[in-house]
Amino acid sequence: MEKQTIIIAYLTGGGALFLTSMLLSFYRVGRVLRPYAYSFAYLTLSVVFSVSPIIYKDLDTGIFLGDLFLVLSVVLIYCGTISYFEITFSWPKRFWIYTVFSLASTFYYGVIQYNTYARGVFLVGITVILFIDFYKYLRTFFNEIPVVMKNAFRVSILFSLTFYVAKAILLMAFDSGIVTNTNFMMVFAFLVFMFNLILWFSTGIILEDSGQIHEMAEKNRQLKSMAERDPLTGLYNRNKLEQRLPNILAIAERLKTPISFIILDLDHFKTVNDRYGHAVGDRILIHLANILRRNVRESDMVFRWGGEEFLVLAIGAPMSGATVLAEHLRTMIESENFDIVGHITASFGIAETSYMGPKDNWFERVDAALYKAKETGRNRVVCWDETVQFQHCEALSDY
Ligand code: GH3
Ligand code: MG
Ligand code: MG
Repeated sequence: MEKQTIIIAYLTGGGALFLTSMLLSFYRVGRVLRPYAYSFAYLTLSVVFSVSPIIYKDLDTGIFLGDLFLVLSVVLIYCGTISYFEITFSWPKRFWIYTVFSLASTFYYGVIQYNTYARGVFLVGITVILFIDFYKYLRTFFNEIPVVMKNAFRVSILFSLTFYVAKAILLMAFDSGIVTNTNFMMVFAFLVFMFNLILWFSTGIILEDSGQIHEMAEKNRQLKSMAERDPLTGLYNRNKLEQRLPNILAIAERLKTPISFIILDLDHFKTVNDRYGHAVGDRILIHLANILRRNVRESDMVFRWGGEEFLVLAIGAPMSGATVLAEHLRTMIESENFDIVGHITASFGIAETSYMGPKDNWFERVDAALYKAKETGRNRVVCWDETVQFQHCEALSDY
């Protein structure tokens, strides 16, 4: 095949798929084709740059730009796919390091210190590590994406890897001029290129048509909500607290602001269940959750801590401020008329995590305070204090 013919074939194949996916992406509900379209465009540019030196006689710039666009196309296709499933996707820093390192070595040994052998070694080394590591990373998302997509990932990575390694071995074995001038290499690259384009294009279409994408996105949303919220009350659960707390504590320390933990436990709730049944008990818990939600600040967080125990994280509130909030909640609950049951009460324990003090024993402290509240007659607020252990809470009137 004539070299010019191959370049025209690349442009026609890649260009056609780019335009088709762009056009389709405007008319279809799904967005999966958009990143693919850009990816096809980069892939086309990549191959055109790689083979362009034959026409322009500027071999090294061509190879460098070719690699740059190839990396961009790969990055786009994977990022697009993952984000399409509404999976929170963070691009680990090490992948950027690989990418930069690979481009830098191509540039260095191709343009500054011309050495095809070194360039080949670097390309093979970095690329093999990148693809293997990247595949391992993608596997962590595999339970969240459909089988079609998993297989597309596997096949595409395997092919790209084979292509890269073959290219690098040829670069090492021969002069790069020979490699890029070899018709065999160009036809091989063309086949891999077309293979990748068609693979991802059809995977996108199949997934969109089967509606799997929207199902998966919905399922992922539900899973995320289940993982962090209590299904009965819709409040955050313990998982969420464990997830967020280290960050919240670090922010509080940085801003030198206190955090108060308020735990509340309904009084004699077992009796309510026994007398009126579990379903009524559940309705009360939902009602209570709404009271809590409505009566805390935007900056506070409410969690369902256990059965009929709730935790309020009052961020930026010292113990005195938290006491005002707890007293307010206590009287709200006490005066509320709950469905069938009438009046119920709750006991409260408070502990403050000061930015100066230790942060890990807040739970013991707040639990001890709650225990004290129960022990001393229920329907009351007790604070944990460093020196006297327990104290009657003093409220700040201006909170
Ligand atoms: P006190 O806290 O005042 O000491 O008495 P209590 O009766 O509330 O005691 P305890 O905390 O030991 O009992 C908790 C009861 O809460 C047990 C169970 O019947 C009820 N409970 C826990 N989770 C749920 C739930 O999800 N729904 C309903 N309806 N009841 C629950
Ligand atoms: Mg309890
Ligand atoms: Mg209780």
